[in-house]
Amino acid sequence: MKELREAILKQGFGIGHDIVKVDMFLNHRLDIALLTNIGQAFHEAFRDQPVDMILTIEASGIAAAITTAQAFGNLPVIFAKKSKTTSTLNNDVYEAKVYSFTHRTENYIRIAKNYLPAGSNVLIIDDFLANGEAAEGLAEIVRQAGAHVAGIGICIEKGFQEGGQKLRKEGYRVVSLATVTGIDNGKLQLADALED
Ligand code: 5GP
Repeated sequence: MKELREAILKQGFGIGHDIVKVDMFLNHRLDIALLTNIGQAFHEAFRDQPVDMILTIEASGIAAAITTAQAFGNLPVIFAKKSKTTSTLNNDVYEAKVYSFTHRTENYIRIAKNYLPAGSNVLIIDDFLANGEAAEGLAEIVRQAGAHVAGIGICIEKGFQEGGQKLRKEGYRVVSLATVTGIDNGKLQLADALED
């Protein structure tokens, strides 16, 4: 997606060899015009199949999930909540364990069962795809609910980490709007756009 690629090149930067910072428009300050276009791009990518709700993970996936939900005609957005502790004693939630790449910690993510009915078609949206832990955890919760993953929409995929390859091999339809292929002295390198 052209505008996203331009924003990444102009306003993003890398830390070390694997952390991408895009606080200027996606992770701290939110560029609403860009986010609106991101939502429309995900709608364009997944409009050929039924989608009943958008599923994401707090906090940084929520903005793109909202604009995607709007592009689909105001679908509900459900965001998984993170916790350091398990809730095995609580029968009212679905839960999955997720290793956080950015914080180097293990978290549990959970969703109240009543928000995710069996048979729902669920589109997963997130800001980044690195090793695929967050998306796998969300897909695991969809599976627990007896619902269906309609697809996985990612704003920025880090092509040098294994998540995209893993999820696609598992059969998920993964659409990334931009792919960072590497970091060279803080400068982000992007894959060529397939179509813009
Ligand atoms: P994964 O679960 O695929 O390993 O990592 C994806 C999650 O970690 C996303 O929800 C995102 O919030 C966070 N994340 C992973 N890598 C980066 C990164 O380079 N920059 C930022 N800002 N977040 C990242």
